[in-house]
Amino acid sequence: MPQNLLDFDLDGLTAWFGELGEKPFRARQVFHWVHQAGVADFAQMTDIAKNLREKLQQQAVVVPPAVSYAHTSTDGTRKWLFDVGVANGIETVFIPEEDRGTLCVSSQVGCALECTFCSTGRQGFNRNLTVAEIIGQLWVAHHSLRGEANRTTGEVSDRPVTNVVMMGMGEPLANLENVVTALGIMLDDHAYGLSRRRVTVSTSGLVPAMDRLAERCPVALAVSLHAPNDALRDQIVPINKKYPLRELMAACRRYLVHAPRDFITFEYVMLAGVNDAPGHARQLIELVREVPCKFNLIPFNPFPDSGYEKPRGEAMRVFREILQDAGLVVTTRKTRGDDIDAACGQLAGKVADKSGRVMKRMHKETA
Ligand code: SAH
Ligand code: SF4
Repeated sequence: MPQNLLDFDLDGLTAWFGELGEKPFRARQVFHWVHQAGVADFAQMTDIAKNLREKLQQQAVVVPPAVSYAHTSTDGTRKWLFDVGVANGIETVFIPEEDRGTLCVSSQVGCALECTFCSTGRQGFNRNLTVAEIIGQLWVAHHSLRGEANRTTGEVSDRPVTNVVMMGMGEPLANLENVVTALGIMLDDHAYGLSRRRVTVSTSGLVPAMDRLAERCPVALAVSLHAPNDALRDQIVPINKKYPLRELMAACRRYLVHAPRDFITFEYVMLAGVNDAPGHARQLIELVREVPCKFNLIPFNPFPDSGYEKPRGEAMRVFREILQDAGLVVTTRKTRGDDIDAACGQLAGKVADKSGRVMKRMHKETA
């Protein structure tokens, strides 16, 4: 089997080149070609010696996951569905805004954590994505968007993706090794050179892995809270039984010592009649008293047979105001953000059982 070079960070590539008897600077050149120029064909790497190009042609490939579907909606949001050989594929979404372009990246096929309101969780777990499959999502997005006019600003950018959020399918901290390597490539100036503050890992609260992420690759952290007490969180985010809120809050404080930002983002999916009462908001204020944080309130994004409903606008407004009155910074997802929800662990779930229908719906959106 040829070696997929997308599986390597620069250290890994340098070590592999060492085994081939090649110098580190050659590895750096090839790394630039692959990640900065987006070149997958060794023959096009014109400043690489011919004998090395031939060696690479025999022993290596540059293969991102295959795009089975790409779609751009009228507001410029772009989605890719990738074929990763199993189950229903994974999804990546790009959301252009005036001052940034955010890519929502997947880390696993399915998810083992079984949060009750999440369609990925309902599908079960298939496997971890490889480094090549994780960084390959950015590779495909970056190189296909580069040189295109941004739908919002009309500008053509060399760096269309300014932010990455690990909020697609899967629990990134349950695939820590591969995610850390892929994050390293995102941050590397020899590759994408993204700022640590603009790369966010979202976790449902795998406490030991939060500590390891802080040591290995501290990037911005979002924690999926969704409930203000253990009794309720045990029900909707079952990993809470293993790592209850007291431990989770302590882990957030420890993370902040290393974090590139001085706050944790708490995500809170609002489920009508479940966690959206004023009393829940008041409990939350107590819970996070010692954790510098911001809240992101996300209206539940319905899917078939979920058993949950979207909150009423009024419930969200009251909830938000209670948090704000206590001095907390709160954002609620706007219309375009709803698109992100649809992306994050949602669409691939729909494709699971009825891909034809989803495709049709998406084509209609384009028309
Ligand atoms: N596994 C990680 C990251 C992927 S999910 C995590 O749980 O944080 C990204 C975000 O989407 C999480 O906050 C998750 O709780 C939320 N989410 C999942 N299902 C949703 C739904 N049906 N509606 C709205 N948000 C949802
Ligand atoms: Fe997994 Fe996150 Fe979905 Fe929970 S919300 S099942 S952790 S992807």
